[in-house]
Amino acid sequence: MSIPFVDLKAQYESIKGDIDHAIQSVISDTSFIGGDIIKTFEQRFASFVGINHCIAVANGTDAIEIALKALGIGEGDEVLVPALTWISTAGAVNNVGAEPVFVDVLKDERSIDPSLLKEKLSERTKAIIPVHLYGLPAQMDSIMAFARENNLKVIEDCAQAHGATFRNQVVGTFGDIATFSFYPGKNLGAYGDAGGIVANDGSLARTCKMLSNHGQLSKHDHQIIGRNSRMDTMQAAILSAKIPHLEKWTEGRIKVAAWYSSKLDDSLIPKTPEGSKHVFHLYVIESQERDALMQKLKEGNIGCAIHYPTPLPHLPSYSYKKHFIGDFPVAEKLCAEILSLPIFPELSEEEVDRICEVLGSDSYK
Ligand SMILES: *Cc1c(COP(=O)(O)O)cnc(C)c1O
Repeated sequence: MSIPFVDLKAQYESIKGDIDHAIQSVISDTSFIGGDIIKTFEQRFASFVGINHCIAVANGTDAIEIALKALGIGEGDEVLVPALTWISTAGAVNNVGAEPVFVDVLKDERSIDPSLLKEKLSERTKAIIPVHLYGLPAQMDSIMAFARENNLKVIEDCAQAHGATFRNQVVGTFGDIATFSFYPGKNLGAYGDAGGIVANDGSLARTCKMLSNHGQLSKHDHQIIGRNSRMDTMQAAILSAKIPHLEKWTEGRIKVAAWYSSKLDDSLIPKTPEGSKHVFHLYVIESQERDALMQKLKEGNIGCAIHYPTPLPHLPSYSYKKHFIGDFPVAEKLCAEILSLPIFPELSEEEVDRICEVLGSDSYK
């Protein structure tokens, strides 16, 4: 039995009628860019998050760049970002002309360590980008308190955490603005690239909308310098059809994670701190035998992956910052020991049993 890391086909099969209808109606209307389908998606996603505004954009990386620009962050500014995340979180900061400043992460939460923010602060620091990594919320209470004390903007990177909550509040509603990715493998995935920005502040939302569409809100009225980062209508139609199922899929992920956690040895399993709802974009185990476990899974035809193999500050693209091994001890240890197991809502308990068996009797309870 081979088990893929993710199975997007299973989800499509389960809602084929809705998806095919959504795609067909975009083609029949030849409404490929903009229009009501985009508005409907924006309203549905804003209401899913429980926030005033959503702006549909081309992808989750652009979403971060546009959010930074809308907050006025650019040349000469510094932005605090976690050392362990997907490259976009930091790359977007460089791409608006600002400088990412890396902060180590918490061992269990695997998100930016609030106790280290102070030592990274300078008079240039303008913002923090907490990432709710793997679907587990960052420590938003301490992060927001620090941001308020130091007059910093907060951009939540929610690319992996659609619907996750911290102390019963949905992620994306804590900071000034938040960004989402709808990359196909994300918890809410399009059939191509897509992203979104959410905010409560109407004027900030309007600025994002303009930045993503050539600086205009209505045709030929270019108020500011913008760009083209629109979500295409086909993706919006597909995402709108999927939103009503998202909660059920999240429950499915949580159920799969609970199977793993009940079967695997306590030393391996990820922890969910009290007060947090983890939406398990990824189920990430930790072991000093990581490479051997990965080999066993490969031989057993079971998909797995490492998110991520290198702390961002140690990547060639950030060698200019001259960081050394030892500068980010927690992220460095995690990168050497983490392993993402297959997780998607349709994964069965038999498959989870099989994966645990392949990991070997030392790995399960
Ligand atoms: C996926 C992801 C992004 C970027 O999303 P794209 O849609 O692929 O551009 C940003 N941040 C994190 C943490 C992600 O996982």
